[in-house]
Amino acid sequence: VPTLALNDVTKDFATGTRALTGVSMGISRGEFVSVVGPSGCGKSTLLRLAAGLDTVSHGELAVDAAVTSFVFQDATLLEWRSAQKNVELVGELAGVPSAERSRRAREALALVGLGGFEGQHPRELSGGMRMRVSIARALVAEPQLALFDEPFGALDEITRLKMQTELQRIFQLKQFAAMFITHSISEAVYLSSRVLVMSGRPGCIVEDIQIPWEYPRP
Ligand code: ADP
Ligand code: ADP
Repeated sequence: VPTLALNDVTKDFATGTRALTGVSMGISRGEFVSVVGPSGCGKSTLLRLAAGLDTVSHGELAVDAAVTSFVFQDATLLEWRSAQKNVELVGELAGVPSAERSRRAREALALVGLGGFEGQHPRELSGGMRMRVSIARALVAEPQLALFDEPFGALDEITRLKMQTELQRIFQLKQFAAMFITHSISEAVYLSSRVLVMSGRPGCIVEDIQIPWEYPRP
């Protein structure tokens, strides 16, 4: 059973815009799938549907995951909370006891290379470090489905390369199902096991490309 499955999905907005048409695809555990395509072809709409932030107009969408996490381009951290408390938020909302959620948050921050930075507030951290807090917050709930909407789009080239390597390492470790939206075809090829190419307005998937395992990875 795929973790995320769409069958002939159409999305119409109340404004009359049809954003997606005839989208069918599946993502299984251990698959890192990038979605590329020009601005306006419906990539973000597709991700928002998968996240349950919006509903399909026609067709079917099924998620077989107890926990779905998403990461957006702006790290959307709570400025008045430390890195540790930002990551703990997820556990607080889920009613995880304080000692346990503290332990898990520390572990998640260590995983993204931020051990020792637990007490820092977002404004004290670089852009890359804020994005790492955001990724730690997404992964602390051990999601089966992780959705990324251009998370590295606002980072400089060096930080971006570091973050790609970091995310690959974490993915190899955790093996969730991932959908990763990006403008960059090289980023998509570098990170993914599959690349979905979208095109058109309304957008649809025009290519589904397996990246051969021989392709050099970070
Ligand atoms: P992409 O992420 O590929 O740039 P989007 O999914 O953001 O594309 O947008 C696809 C199309 O849907 C665009 O024409 C956009 O203007 C439209 N759209 C996106 N969100 C909304 C919305 N909430 N209401 C109306 N139209 C929207
Ligand atoms: P970014 O993730 O934005 O690239 P950098 O790794 O370039 O951040 O680091 C920005 C600053 O924070 C640098 O001065 C770096 O030494 C420091 N820094 C970042 N991560 C760590 C870490 N895990 N341990 C110690 N210092 C760090």
